[in-house]
Amino acid sequence: MGSDTTRHQGQRLQLLIQLRARGIQNESVLEAMGKVPRHLFLDSSFEQYAYRDAAFPIRAHQTISQPYTVAFQTEALQVGPGAKILEIGTGSGYQAAVLAQMGYKVFTIERQKELFDFSKGILETLGLRVTQKFGDGFKGMPAYAPFDGIIVTAAAPILPEALLTQLKPGGRLIVPVGDVEEDQVMHAVWTDKEGHRKEETLGQFRFVPMLKDVDTGR
Ligand code: SAH
Repeated sequence: MGSDTTRHQGQRLQLLIQLRARGIQNESVLEAMGKVPRHLFLDSSFEQYAYRDAAFPIRAHQTISQPYTVAFQTEALQVGPGAKILEIGTGSGYQAAVLAQMGYKVFTIERQKELFDFSKGILETLGLRVTQKFGDGFKGMPAYAPFDGIIVTAAAPILPEALLTQLKPGGRLIVPVGDVEEDQVMHAVWTDKEGHRKEETLGQFRFVPMLKDVDTGR
């Protein structure tokens, strides 16, 4: 594994300036992103670009989310310290690492075996405690529900209903919904105290598709 140098730390501070300029305000999110070494979640050939505000290819034809998107989705959860969060689409493990660095209890699901294994390795190496599952995120993690918040980091063709049933009342599901040929619309969905479903749209983003069932790569 590569190391975290003062150069990387300096690049992270530059990245935080960009995130603030784009509107990210949550200091806990920014603090965590200032600490997690994103370059270690990328293929070494992209290491020099790790602190650009851009998405990059990772294994299994997937992408690591753009830092702005990670910050935006994390901020959109609107949860307090120690919250229990489920992520769908572990990918590189970077988003899960940011959540764990913030002190949340993190659960994450990935359907690509290669990425499940890679992310497990890096999260363990960094000493970040995350409960990982190799499986289909459409099903969520009922055994560990209910969650204070759920983040989906792949484009859902429709609102994943099963996930809504795994939220505490008031807990928000942050999910990009839409066709993968176009941008998707970020949705925040929750149930209010009276049991009514509430929904807010939060702008356009672009993600790789959320697919059903697992891919073992064989
Ligand atoms: N959060 C990731 C972003 C990864 S891209 C990061 O920080 O790097 C989205 C990921 O969602 C891909 O790894 C893809 O394999 C995964 N994915 C797609 N559909 C899924 C599903 N139904 N269940 C679990 N993971 C899924």
